[in-house]
Amino acid sequence: MGFPEVAARIDQLENELVAFLVRICSVPALGPENQGSGEMDKYRIVKDAVLALAADMVEEVHAPDPRVPDGVRPNLLAVFAGNDSSRTLWILTHIDVVPPGEGALWDDDPFSPHLENGFLYGRGVEDNGQALAASIFAVKAVKETCGLARNVGLALVSDEESGSRYGLDYVLGKRLDLFRPDDLILVPDAGNENGDCIEIAEKHLLQVRCTVRGDQAHASRPDKARNSLRAAAHFIVELDKALAGRFTEENPFFNPPVSTFEPTRKDANVPNVNTIPGEDVFFFDCRVLPEVDLSNVLKEMQRVAREIAARFRVETRVDVHMSFEAPDATPPDSPVVVALAQAVQEVYGVQARPHGIGGQTVAAFFRKRGLRAAVWEKILQTAHAPNERIRVEDLIGNTKVFARMMI
Ligand SMILES: [Zn+2]
Repeated sequence: MGFPEVAARIDQLENELVAFLVRICSVPALGPENQGSGEMDKYRIVKDAVLALAADMVEEVHAPDPRVPDGVRPNLLAVFAGNDSSRTLWILTHIDVVPPGEGALWDDDPFSPHLENGFLYGRGVEDNGQALAASIFAVKAVKETCGLARNVGLALVSDEESGSRYGLDYVLGKRLDLFRPDDLILVPDAGNENGDCIEIAEKHLLQVRCTVRGDQAHASRPDKARNSLRAAAHFIVELDKALAGRFTEENPFFNPPVSTFEPTRKDANVPNVNTIPGEDVFFFDCRVLPEVDLSNVLKEMQRVAREIAARFRVETRVDVHMSFEAPDATPPDSPVVVALAQAVQEVYGVQARPHGIGGQTVAAFFRKRGLRAAVWEKILQTAHAPNERIRVEDLIGNTKVFARMMI
């Protein structure tokens, strides 16, 4: 028996798979930050489904959280033994969802998922229900046919939508030993409609607050003032020129392939038109290629700040508002990326390629600890939107991709 039998079994399981996804997405799993009571009710259904598959190792790593009725945020790790136990293929998905948002924007009740023309609608069906259900049913289909070729681990976690402190970050803090450097780690929590994008890297994030101080005065007496807005305007233009001119590295994994430096927020200064403002504050949001040293970006901004201070006789400051160093990227030739690309090719007939993105995903928690994780799924990209939906065809196809990686 081989993959055709597994794929045929997954086709047979379609109704059961859709019914399971409907069932779990009928239970709102909102964290306390979103005025919810946590993931426990939904977790119990998910856990029963995993236990029904007779896992060889099951461990609950619940994170204490007094804000929810059960006092914990549930996390489940289950390992199914395969012929080759030297490596484990981990699939990590999350149980929690975001609130529906404005109710009027939904055509139907977000927590009564329903099928229509091959699409399933409901909050959480895409983020992250589709992948969660697919990972469980892939194990089921493979176990019922040819058996697992390698160890498979399912990690089902809470709190992804509010920072993972009670989810993956907590789990890795407690049981990092369960994840080995040679393991293949797949996080199906982002992707595109073609399924051709494998996310392996992130940019650094640097947000800075720039402050200019001069003197406030009547607008008719600029001779008595140092105008902070004029200096700030030049400051922004000089930062724009200096940063784009100096950090010109290109990396084709990213889109856009360069570091980006965007002036974003500008705080209000004086409320009236006839006063020269004495203080101006603005922000830059920088997404910097991982090969660039963030401290050099900051030094360049400070150099420009000194130049502006001298030219306009004002005081200038550059402060870090927020900064995240990108963890080391998952190498494009690492086993998880190679196995994933092969499975995607076989199931969907498309060539999936490694990419980097500008913002952080939950995979960063693995990468920060030296574990190589890849992010992939084939989805409609409706997460967090009203009328969130999936294509049942993708649900079945993605289940086959996961199953292909297990045999
Ligand atoms: Zn998600």
